[in-house]
Amino acid sequence: MKLLEDKIRELGQVRPGDVLKVDCFLNHQIDVALLDEIGAEFHRIFKDENINKILTIEASGIAIACMTARHFEVPVVFAKKAQSKNIDGDVFTSKVHSYTYGRDYDITLAKKFLSPADRVLIVDDFLANGKAMRGLLDVCQQAGATVAGIGICIEKGFQPGGADLRKAGYKLASLAIVDSMENGVLQFRPQD
Ligand code: 5GP
Repeated sequence: MKLLEDKIRELGQVRPGDVLKVDCFLNHQIDVALLDEIGAEFHRIFKDENINKILTIEASGIAIACMTARHFEVPVVFAKKAQSKNIDGDVFTSKVHSYTYGRDYDITLAKKFLSPADRVLIVDDFLANGKAMRGLLDVCQQAGATVAGIGICIEKGFQPGGADLRKAGYKLASLAIVDSMENGVLQFRPQD
């Protein structure tokens, strides 16, 4: 998506540890017009998949999910990172290793919000090693929900998450794929 690539080129900052900072427009300060275009693009790609729910993980995914859901006219549900008591067995849980914080955390999602009746589009801001996505896929599997698609704003193509998901057969659309950030120079994978 040219608009997103241009924004990353203009405002993205490469940080040590292969971290791309895009907090000016994507996950701290938010460019709502850009997110609306991103939502429209995910809708264009996945509109024939009979999606009835957008799933993401807090916090950065929520704005993207909401702007996407506007185009599908379906609800958003997000996995929570905060510890949630599971006394009644009323939540799905999964363990995720955080790329940016370098530690494990639990995600939880109330069982009442995901079921075998759901055809889900999972969205997130970044795809790196795919750990966050694995947690969300695990939750979908526990719920018996169908993963109809995965929509990512920025895939770091030099990390294995994207290739693993494509190999596993998921319909994955990454709107910008960064293949290299060596010496602070961003190289995008050409896409149709
Ligand atoms: P993964 O689980 O695929 O390794 O990493 C994905 C998660 O880590 C995303 O939800 C995102 O919040 C965070 N992340 C991974 N790489 C980056 C990065 O380069 N920049 C930022 N801002 N977040 C990242």
